[in-house]
Amino acid sequence: MVEMRDVSVVYSGGVDALHNVNLKINDGDFAFVVGPSGAGKSTMIKLILKEINPSSGTVFVNGYHLGKLKQRQVPALRRTIGFVFQDFLLLDGLTVQQNILLPAIIGGTAGPAMEQRADQLCQVFGISAIREKYPAEISGGEKQRTAVARALINNPLLILADEPTGNLDSKSSRAVISSFEQAKQSLEATIFMVTHDSFAASFCDRVIILQDGVVWRVLEKGTLARTTFQDQLLDAIREMGRE
Ligand code: ADP
Repeated sequence: MVEMRDVSVVYSGGVDALHNVNLKINDGDFAFVVGPSGAGKSTMIKLILKEINPSSGTVFVNGYHLGKLKQRQVPALRRTIGFVFQDFLLLDGLTVQQNILLPAIIGGTAGPAMEQRADQLCQVFGISAIREKYPAEISGGEKQRTAVARALINNPLLILADEPTGNLDSKSSRAVISSFEQAKQSLEATIFMVTHDSFAASFCDRVIILQDGVVWRVLEKGTLARTTFQDQLLDAIREMGRE
């Protein structure tokens, strides 16, 4: 769960990066924040991870009231979050399987149960056959699916993804999006992604359009077909451009 209530962020130098933002992502939601460069997307991610604090307003993440969280409690917050970054950040010297298990190794929870979970994740994401391969031997889409599996190994309540399809061709991008859909359906994960890719965004339940630090519009997919939802999204983005 992620909730922002009247959140504003003013950076030193007076840059108003977010202005009175209100949003709520419920458990099990698949939500995207889209917006042009400079809209405030990365600032939202930094708030959720408590890398920065808002200038005003309140942020709640997975039941934590971040304003009341002490610095020593921040690692506990971050353990409830799985990250997927644009550049994958896989370790070249480890196999796909070892990369997926890495957060469990670091967290001291590695063991047969985690290995079983890694196997299950490999099956969900269709990467069982490449488990023993190294990052240099697999495609961009496979790397990203490995990164998504790794983000899920510790059973996070929330998956945070920053431009996860940014560097991918459309086929790999589609593979990554379906890996997120699978994560949502079979693992009941909540997903919060930021992107400027409207194709990717059209697969989720809710799109929050951000411009100049303000929530400009929220679109709900509801029962719409993906293509209809994408058309609505593109219309909204064009309209925002005209304004
Ligand atoms: P996005 O991720 O949508 O591109 P950001 O959240 O990175 O947007 O940035 C929002 C605004 O805040 C931009 O105008 C950016 O220049 C400014 N900004 C981001 N980080 C800082 C910082 N550390 N100090 C000052 N200004 C910043």
